[in-house]
Amino acid sequence: MSIVGQIELENASHSVPATMLAAVYRGINDVRLETVPVPKIGAGEILVRVHTCGVCGTDLKKIATGSHAAPRIFGHETSGTVAAVGDNVSKFRPGDRVVVFHHIPCRTCYYCRHKTFAQCATYKKVGCTAGFEPSGGGFAEYVRVMDWIVEQGTVRIPEGVSFEQACFVEPVNTCIKGIEALRLREGEMVLTIGQGPIGIILSVLARRAGAIVITSDLYPERLKISKSLGFEYTIEASQQDMIASVRERTEGRGADAVILAVGSNGLIRPAMDSARPGGRVLLFAQTQRGEALIDPAAVCVDEKALVGSYSASVDLQDESVRFVMNREMDLEKLISHRFPLQQAAQALELAARPQPTSMKIVIQPGRRLG
Ligand SMILES: [Zn+2]
Ligand SMILES: [Zn+2]
Repeated sequence: MSIVGQIELENASHSVPATMLAAVYRGINDVRLETVPVPKIGAGEILVRVHTCGVCGTDLKKIATGSHAAPRIFGHETSGTVAAVGDNVSKFRPGDRVVVFHHIPCRTCYYCRHKTFAQCATYKKVGCTAGFEPSGGGFAEYVRVMDWIVEQGTVRIPEGVSFEQACFVEPVNTCIKGIEALRLREGEMVLTIGQGPIGIILSVLARRAGAIVITSDLYPERLKISKSLGFEYTIEASQQDMIASVRERTEGRGADAVILAVGSNGLIRPAMDSARPGGRVLLFAQTQRGEALIDPAAVCVDEKALVGSYSASVDLQDESVRFVMNREMDLEKLISHRFPLQQAAQALELAARPQPTSMKIVIQPGRRLG
């Protein structure tokens, strides 16, 4: 190692404190700001100082339902700076700007061979932690990234790309995966229900796949953002009949494909009714188990297909990195609120109860209160 490298490394490790702030999940709807030890790293691992971590719907679901035993530190849309590296790490050095995936599949098991990576047991093992049971750890000042994630799931952020833009790599991957599941053809008419940040990304990707996109949302504030991205066909669902509007624009048939980017199960039926016979409906936000109303004849007689997509695909990692880092879309524009770690509880609260003016919400540990 050069002398300069040695000095940098020492400086970087000197600057890592013994304790840090973290938003710790302690039970259902109970997330507290606590002082915890900065995680220790082992050989092959790196420590990342978090700059930005996006709040994801799946974090909110885990916090609201208690599906995962407490205590944990969530947050998995993490970008930041390498603060320290363990023995045998040659890919990264302190000071590198990176974005990290929190889990990577094995690529060899039954599910991986069948390309259903989200079902792989290795994939379910989370490789980033800020302490406690590994759960992402992005809602803390520092995150420990384990060796297999350092090797396969850590991406350098190019110069000129912000941490905020970069933290979208994982959500964009999940959206590309959803769009692939719809197998869109050039010129097909797509309806996207919900124009939150994910609905907007899905709409942009559907258009990129050659579709003509109609967007729908209850809030005019959100439709304004989709209009600014060039989506001219919008439906304000609080004022207009969504199904009738879609049929009007498709010679009475309905959309070739419908993307449901809102969690409410009550929208499954209207989504299916908006699709043409033989059309496809993507359930992208239906993460809660339970029962929902569907018309079975819409599936059998009208041959409408219900398609699901969940989580990211390792096969799409390069594509999603390119999309984000080449700034094919200005994703920063989707961030409406930036909270310091001290206000993590407010950030999660706002994300769980979106307002007309709230879009993507991120937590930035380095941000000052006030
Ligand atoms: Zn996520
Ligand atoms: Zn596997």
